[in-house]
Amino acid sequence: MKEINKQLAQQIVDFGKKMFRAGLVAGTGGNISIRVPGENAFLISPSGMPYEEITADDIVMLDMEGNQIGGKRRPSVEKNMHRMILKARPEFNAVIHTHSIYASAYASLRKPLPVFLDIMSCVFGGPVECAEYARIGSDELAINAEKAMRGTNVAFLANHGCIGAGENLEQAYANVELLELCCKIYLAACSAGIPIPISEDDIRLTREEFAAKYGQRD
Ligand SMILES: [Zn+2]
Repeated sequence: MKEINKQLAQQIVDFGKKMFRAGLVAGTGGNISIRVPGENAFLISPSGMPYEEITADDIVMLDMEGNQIGGKRRPSVEKNMHRMILKARPEFNAVIHTHSIYASAYASLRKPLPVFLDIMSCVFGGPVECAEYARIGSDELAINAEKAMRGTNVAFLANHGCIGAGENLEQAYANVELLELCCKIYLAACSAGIPIPISEDDIRLTREEFAAKYGQRD
């Protein structure tokens, strides 16, 4: 068994608590992974442990074929979903799966969320797709989730929840947090009418300008 990078493992512990305290998951639901730099491997949260009790020693390391190469706990049952995404998307170094309320509600509709807010153009760059239904922890769910996330950084899991990825854990977290907010706003808007989607041209232009101008530069 390989030695686990304590600093990376601690990031999973910290974001697990953050996700739990923010109400994005209940109980032991959801899971988090981070790519291990310089190694063909990733770290992932353990299966079925309360977030307030997990320490860096409970984090598990797997290689990209899915073999456990570090840690003493059993890995999350959704390990293959994380592995498939990290394998297919080298631009992502972290993946988070949550059961947040509004995203899960929307995921039960099994349909994409159109780009109806400008912030979705900036961050997601297009509609959020829903992965075809497959049972929890199945290889099929892993395949469907990776497929649904192509072209963006988040996806719904039908009748289950959502998943998001990012360059780092902060970004992956921000993406699932934003998706939850968008679903909440969409469902609120639906009580007064049907939200109007933003045109594809405006989505593209907003995204380009956002990438060039937003935030602080050195
Ligand atoms: Zn789940």
